[in-house]
Amino acid sequence: MTDIGSIVAEIAAEMAQATDRGRVADYIAPLAGVDPAHFGLAVVTADGACHVAGDADMPFSIQSVSKVFTLTLALGRVGDRIWDRVGREPSGTSFNSIVQLESEQGVPRNPFINAGAIVVSDMILAGHQPREAIGEILRFVRGLAGDEAIYIDEAVARAEQETGFRNAALANYMRAFDNLNNPVDLTLGVYFHHCAIAMSCRQLALAGRYLMARGVNPETGKRVISPERARRINALMLTCGHYDGSGEFAFRVGLPGKSGVGGGILAIAPGHASIAVWSPGINTSGNSQLGMVALERLAQRTGWSVFDPVSI
Ligand code: GLN
Repeated sequence: MTDIGSIVAEIAAEMAQATDRGRVADYIAPLAGVDPAHFGLAVVTADGACHVAGDADMPFSIQSVSKVFTLTLALGRVGDRIWDRVGREPSGTSFNSIVQLESEQGVPRNPFINAGAIVVSDMILAGHQPREAIGEILRFVRGLAGDEAIYIDEAVARAEQETGFRNAALANYMRAFDNLNNPVDLTLGVYFHHCAIAMSCRQLALAGRYLMARGVNPETGKRVISPERARRINALMLTCGHYDGSGEFAFRVGLPGKSGVGGGILAIAPGHASIAVWSPGINTSGNSQLGMVALERLAQRTGWSVFDPVSI
């Protein structure tokens, strides 16, 4: 049997040599200063083992990876009514695209593009103060990872609040179609704060365990979400988790995955592993350049794929 620990170490060593690392996102000021040389990888397997390499314990801004957790929370809260306000189709456009919203009457294509995630934030905010909603999201993520040290990077949240004009445009536009119920600035406050959650690869891989384990947190034995919903979140991650790079990710990696502009990716090998990778440089679709390469190699060497039952 191939040893996953050695594969993880091997991939991290290879990635350390890579020269084409993409470019760090600079439209969120604190992210512009992150050193593109970082690389972290964490793989938590179904037997509970956690294999890490590189900067796997260094917190980074998880950004849009947080949308997996807010979708999970919102599904638990409002159930399938969520789909009245957000679609389930790949967008084929960038994560912050505005054009589609007009032709589709303010209903975003899916919960992982910014507009969709803003609607999901609006649902979580319903009946609460922003502070409570943000606290609930943070508590949820900490509980999933079993780690109370996970925090929100206020400097990142503030920077997004100050310069997130595009997100404000998306939110206002949806409000005009009655697809946001709360005041735009409050909903955006929740959105920016969950994007600003900082986590390490180890924490992120631990938080994703319920998606490899049919909706149950394997550490606590507690059900996070039904098996059917876990399956569906994985389906959305596969089809929409990398924006207009989703097809390429499915083709090359073959696993559900969700990226963020901080350079993190959470990928799930159902039944086998929850995987987090971080390399800050992103490609033109806003997805971690080396993160995808690393996951492609991991999938090749382990055989993990949702399209092939053969794996180690
Ligand atoms: N907070 C970022 C934004 O709204 C999230 C984008 C991303 O990670 N793709 O622009």
